[in-house]
Amino acid sequence: MDCLFCKIASGEIPANILYEDGDVVAFLDIRPVNPGHTLVIPKQHAHDIFDIRPEAYAAVSKTAQKMAHAISKALSPDGVNIHMNNKPAAGQVIFHAHVHVIPRFENDGYKMWHGRDIGNEETTREIQQKIREAL
Ligand code: ZN
Repeated sequence: MDCLFCKIASGEIPANILYEDGDVVAFLDIRPVNPGHTLVIPKQHAHDIFDIRPEAYAAVSKTAQKMAHAISKALSPDGVNIHMNNKPAAGQVIFHAHVHVIPRFENDGYKMWHGRDIGNEETTREIQQKIREAL
């Protein structure tokens, strides 16, 4: 499979690796939002949150937390975002599951999403019911 992150995981393509174990690799994003912006990927290919094995996602999450601690210690950011994009509509560009660990600084200009009013209480209850039924 022609997958950039599989090639990074296997060492075929170089990356600025920060951490690696049997399940995951963490490396610096080549187009960082801020210095220290890190990606954590499972070594075994998965496209996104919908097909990654729960055990692999747990390993990625544990590593994202580990990287957040290391980034905080090393770079003293004012905050850290943990972020995952799934499918193009959500901004996914590389189709190998990955979690972003982004150091944040006051007034760094990185815009977050904004909540909006989506309708009345009835609409909200319908959405709640649909998701609960899907579980
Ligand atoms: Zn891959």
